[in-house]
Amino acid sequence: MTDHTDTATANGSPGAPLWLLAELTYRCPLQCSYCSNPLDFAAVKQELTTDEWIDVLTQARAMGAVQLGFSGGEPLVRKDLETLVAEARRLGFYTNLITSALGLDEARIHALRDAGLDHIQISLQASDPDVAAAVAGSAKAHAKKLAMARAVKEAGYPMVLNVVLHRHNIDQLDTIIALCDDLGADAVELANCQLYGWAHLNRAGLLPSQAQLEAAEATTNRWRQRLAERDRDMRLLFVVPDYYADRPKACMGGWGSIFMTVAPDGAVLPCHSARMLPMDFPNAREHPLQEIWYDSAAFNRYRGDDWMQEPCRSCDERHKDVGGCRCQAYMLTGDPAATDPVCDLSPDHHLIEAARREAADDSRSAQALTLRNARESQVFCRT
Ligand code: SF4
Ligand code: SF4
Repeated sequence: MTDHTDTATANGSPGAPLWLLAELTYRCPLQCSYCSNPLDFAAVKQELTTDEWIDVLTQARAMGAVQLGFSGGEPLVRKDLETLVAEARRLGFYTNLITSALGLDEARIHALRDAGLDHIQISLQASDPDVAAAVAGSAKAHAKKLAMARAVKEAGYPMVLNVVLHRHNIDQLDTIIALCDDLGADAVELANCQLYGWAHLNRAGLLPSQAQLEAAEATTNRWRQRLAERDRDMRLLFVVPDYYADRPKACMGGWGSIFMTVAPDGAVLPCHSARMLPMDFPNAREHPLQEIWYDSAAFNRYRGDDWMQEPCRSCDERHKDVGGCRCQAYMLTGDPAATDPVCDLSPDHHLIEAARREAADDSRSAQALTLRNARESQVFCRT
């Protein structure tokens, strides 16, 4: 392994990873049709053991990572979650549990708090139980989520709710925000569905229309005003979908720049979607994280700007948005080094416009979307 202090990428040495996303498992009791997990997740069988995860956490912390998200799948499926949280606390991480709340109960909330968990983020599907059931593939999940959101708040955690918005729930935004207010949320992430994994498979049935999106933004602004008048401190974060932007976001702050994801089987990725790309990612079972982060071909592949093609290569904005998302470029054009077609300077931007038209013509109900489950995943494991 090279000493990273002497290792220069084409545009200078990368800094340390600040964020570690630990995807503990792809197992999950829900089946959300917008899930960003890989389509072939069922092929991943050998999850890292408790000791292997502790080794990953220890290495990442030694490299300088300070923020740790436990995610999945559903991280509560892992019986060793409390052990991992305690170890993360001992190492000095700020820890966040990203959960559906399925698998949570009062005893576990207290055990996680005793282990030192800093933060819990619960996802809600909708305010209407029928829509929530259709999108999550579970009739019981909605009531459980509401009960656990209340319990998390009572246990003294700052309460962040995450609502993935799509065409089947975005028109209910007024009642969704009212529900979050009633639950006592401190912050609500209204995150328009990012179209990766299962969400990309269901893209035409999930993408809202421009009119829906504008109405949702207006509703959010009305609520911000109302909350301010009541002196109610509930932050509303509205994340616009890429497909209605004219510039891409700087994906993960830049490839291999600050985020490192470790997948359930130990694959180390620059983001949770990247394993869809046609390239090999190193595994934490076989290589130290430091070597992977600084020296691997995968992590150096899209660092800096030498890899960029036109129009990004000569664009003044290339250091601001890093040419967008490599996964989105690959999914839409077949070329992971292409300019993200979200950008209206991209020669492939017409693909985004075509996706919007395709979505406008799609009349599927929420019930008709493909659910994310092991049976459906098997189809992609064979291809
Ligand atoms: S999005 Fe839904 S199905 Fe996917 S991991 Fe989260 S809760 Fe499970
Ligand atoms: S051409 Fe590339 S660098 Fe320029 S704005 Fe578009 S995505 Fe960003």
